[in-house]
Amino acid sequence: MLTRIKNIDTVVSCDPVDSVYHKVDLWFENGVIVRIGSYDKSPDREYDGAGMIVYPGLINAHHHLYQYFTRNLRKVQSYALFDWLKALYGVWKNLNEKTVLLSSCAGMGELMRYGCTTCFDHHYVFPQNCVDLLGAQFEAAKALGIRMHASRGSMDLSEKDGGLPPDSVVQPVDRILRSCEDAVRIYHDSERYSMRQVVLAPCSPFSASAALYRESAALARKLGVRLHTHLCETLDEERYTMSKFGLRPFAYLETLGWTGEDVFYAHGIHFQDDELDRIAETHTGVAHCPVSNMKLSSGVMRLPDMLDRNINVGLAVDGSASNDGSNMMDEMRSAYLVHRLTWGDRAPSGYDILKLATAGSAKLLGRDDLGSIEAGKAADVFAIRKDSSDLLCAIDDPLNLFGSVGYHRPCDLVFINGELTVSEGKLVNIDEETLCRLSQNELKRFLSNL
Ligand code: ZN
Repeated sequence: MLTRIKNIDTVVSCDPVDSVYHKVDLWFENGVIVRIGSYDKSPDREYDGAGMIVYPGLINAHHHLYQYFTRNLRKVQSYALFDWLKALYGVWKNLNEKTVLLSSCAGMGELMRYGCTTCFDHHYVFPQNCVDLLGAQFEAAKALGIRMHASRGSMDLSEKDGGLPPDSVVQPVDRILRSCEDAVRIYHDSERYSMRQVVLAPCSPFSASAALYRESAALARKLGVRLHTHLCETLDEERYTMSKFGLRPFAYLETLGWTGEDVFYAHGIHFQDDELDRIAETHTGVAHCPVSNMKLSSGVMRLPDMLDRNINVGLAVDGSASNDGSNMMDEMRSAYLVHRLTWGDRAPSGYDILKLATAGSAKLLGRDDLGSIEAGKAADVFAIRKDSSDLLCAIDDPLNLFGSVGYHRPCDLVFINGELTVSEGKLVNIDEETLCRLSQNELKRFLSNL
C-alpha cells in the first residue's frame, strides 16, 4: 500500500542535519517512509497536506497509564512524592485488567491526539488477582493503533522490609522474574518497525530490593531487552539510600549493574558532576519529566550539563496522576520554560526540546527506526494546520514553535505505522464517547475506598 501526503507546506524532519522541507510530498509504503519529494509512482491512497506543518511523531519515554483514574484528586494535591505515593498505593491495589485496559486507552488516546506515536509505560503494580495486565495494555495499544513499549515493572520491598509500599502491592522476586520472562516471550517483538516491545523495570530504590535489581538486570541481558527504573527523583530518595546503604542513589544502582546503553532512568534530577560523567561514559539514558517534577516539587534536571556531556535524554509526561495529563506538546512547552527560567542562556531551545521528544526518546527505547522523518524510518508523523487561528502570527519558526508558542491543540492528522490514527483531533480507531462512558463506570469502583 503506497500512501502520499501531498503538497505539505513544511516538513520538520528532526534528522541528524536538521533538514526542513517546503512544498513537498511525503510517501509511505507498508508502514515505512520511502520518499520525501517527487516519486515516479502512483499512490494507492492520498491525503492533502496543503497548509500543514508535519513533524516526526512524539515519543513518550515514561508513563504510568494506570494512574489515569487518579488524576486531579483533592486529597493528594499538595503532597511531595513519598507522601503522595503512600496515599495512593491504597487505591492502586484495586486495579485489575479492566482498569488497565480503559486507563491505557484513555491515556494513550490523549497522547495520540497531541502528536504522540509511541508510548513507553512503566507499570509496576500487580495485585494478586490479576492475570495479564500487560496483555490488557497491548490490547489497548492495538485498538488505538499506537506503537507501545510496556514494562513488566516490579516492587518487592514493602514497609515491613524497610520499603515505602504496603504488603498488598509487592511480590516475591522469583515470581516477578518468572512473570518477566513470560511477558518477554509472549509480547516482545524485536524486529525493525516493531509495534510492541517489553522492558524490565523494578520501580525505585525504595520499593525494589538489591536482589531484584541485580536479577532483573541479568535476566534482561539474557533476553535482550532494556532496563528502566526511577532514579534521583527526590532528595528523600537520596536520604533513603544514604541511610540504608551508605551510598548515593546512582552509586547504589551502579553497584547493581544498572548502567549501560541498555539502561534508562526516569527523572534523573539530583546528580552530581562525577555522576553525570559516569552516566555519559556508560551511555546510560535519562527520561526527563518536567511537569511531574514541578507538580511534586521534586526539582529541576541539570539538562544543560547533561546535553554538554552528550548524555542521551528523552522527554516524558510521567504518570497521569503526577502531571495530571498526557500531552507531549504541553510537556515540551513546560520543559522549555522551566529551563529558560533556571539556566538562562544555557537553556536548550524549543527545537532542542523537540529533538528530545523525538530522536532522544527513540534512542532511549533502542529504536533507530523511529524519531525522525527520513527514508527508511517508520511512518510515524503528525500534522498541524499552519492557518489555525491558534497560530496566527506565530509560524515564522516552526522548529521552535512548541517551546516558544506553547501550541497544544489536538492534531489535524496523526499517522502511526503509515496508518491514519487521528483525524481533525479525533481518534480514528475507537469511539471516544463509548470510552468515556465505560471509564466513568470503572472509575466509581476503582475510587470506592479512597
Ligand atoms: Zn514515574
